[in-house]
Amino acid sequence: MLHNDALDRWDRESFMHPSTHLGQFARGEMPSRVIRTGKGVRITDRDGNSLLDAFAGLYCVNVGYGRTEIAEAIAAQARELAYYHAYVGHGTEASITLAHMVIERAPRGMARVYFGLGGSDANVTNVKLAWYYNNVLGRPEKKKIIARWRGYHGSGLVSGSMTGLKLFHDQFDLPLDRFLHTQAPCYFRRADPGQSEEEFVDHCVAELEALIAREGPETIAAFIGEPALGTGGLVPPPRGYWPRIQEVLDRHDILLIADEVVTGFGRLGAMFGSDLYGMRPDLITIAKGLTSAYAPLSGSIVGERVWKVLVEGTDRFGPFGHGWTYSAHPLGAAAGVANLKLIDQLGLVENAREVGAYLLDGLRAALGDHPNVGDVRGQGLLCAVEFVEDRAERRFFAPEGAVAARVNAALLRRGVIARAMPQGDIIGLAPPLVLTRDEADEIVTGLHAAVREVLG
Ligand code: PLP
Repeated sequence: MLHNDALDRWDRESFMHPSTHLGQFARGEMPSRVIRTGKGVRITDRDGNSLLDAFAGLYCVNVGYGRTEIAEAIAAQARELAYYHAYVGHGTEASITLAHMVIERAPRGMARVYFGLGGSDANVTNVKLAWYYNNVLGRPEKKKIIARWRGYHGSGLVSGSMTGLKLFHDQFDLPLDRFLHTQAPCYFRRADPGQSEEEFVDHCVAELEALIAREGPETIAAFIGEPALGTGGLVPPPRGYWPRIQEVLDRHDILLIADEVVTGFGRLGAMFGSDLYGMRPDLITIAKGLTSAYAPLSGSIVGERVWKVLVEGTDRFGPFGHGWTYSAHPLGAAAGVANLKLIDQLGLVENAREVGAYLLDGLRAALGDHPNVGDVRGQGLLCAVEFVEDRAERRFFAPEGAVAARVNAALLRRGVIARAMPQGDIIGLAPPLVLTRDEADEIVTGLHAAVREVLG
């Protein structure tokens, strides 16, 4: 094992970390964190500190750390056949089995799965599918994509364009043309404090209608949204939001892409968020929970309506010109099969629902009355606490983010990892779906103490 000094030096000198303040890291002004092992909901760092990971990595290690069933499935696949491609009708038993398992679990009306590597590239695939679909249908002008402010869809050129967070646009010349944004469905952040939840949904729908009218429905290919907002603040949709949006999309013949990278495979206490909220997606993006991040793998689940047109397209234009070397990588597929079996065997969708409700109750009881806690929200094991400077006036701290960062650091000192979300003073919790009630109590106790330390 490398000595800590060498590790630290190489880390500062050679490794460019994603989503990191590069200057501060290189100069040693912020800690480097080296994680060595994980088991269940806990990880251990290089100094031997054990931490309860209440964000499951990047809300992806859904079955928890150290699952030998998945490790062994990957090892067995690597010994037998580490790689073969999936082009021109090739496959492996693992990739075919996983495709079958995904379709079995997917919302109704889903026809096929295309496998990629991560959520960003799966969203690129879905945009290309929407464009291809409209070209085959003879509607070359119907190409624009509507996303939401505060949505997160990755950080590639196309996926980053759909992301609705400034941090991912500024200095990168994004969003590209053809990518538009509409109202974020965050009731807590509504501009008009007197608005009821129902009126706020009316407002979201009216904003969407106005954008479609302005651009012309004949130019809009698809609308993309996470069933519940993730990185933009962990916000379940306001009541009745999705059926109302769906009605608008249907009326204008606009495809719906459900980005279920976070929500797919149980996080919300349902197999898919689309089922929970009454969405009828044409395309679904999956990643994270597909393999619980034991190996990189993502997918685009294609609904019947699009699938029929894709088939017609290749009959007219020849083979489908889209693929990655690592599409349906056998190691990822083997991990996915073992992971989905575990989710079933351990009853993790139900556990997310039950322990998620318990965690949310605990957070509300411990923090709901604090004068600087503006909102405690969640669905399944995706919860957030949002801080405000003044609760009665719903006034936010300025600049935003510093308070949540301090609470997060205080929580870390108590052995619990959460995430200070990038836009607002929001502490996000998305622990592995194996979380027990005792572990939920540990999170609540730690967060309560951290909030008291920072905000009194
Ligand atoms: N979509 C959603 C909803 C996500 O939360 C993420 C990542 O957090 C992505 C897409 C991008 O996935 P990846 O980071 O694997 O490219």
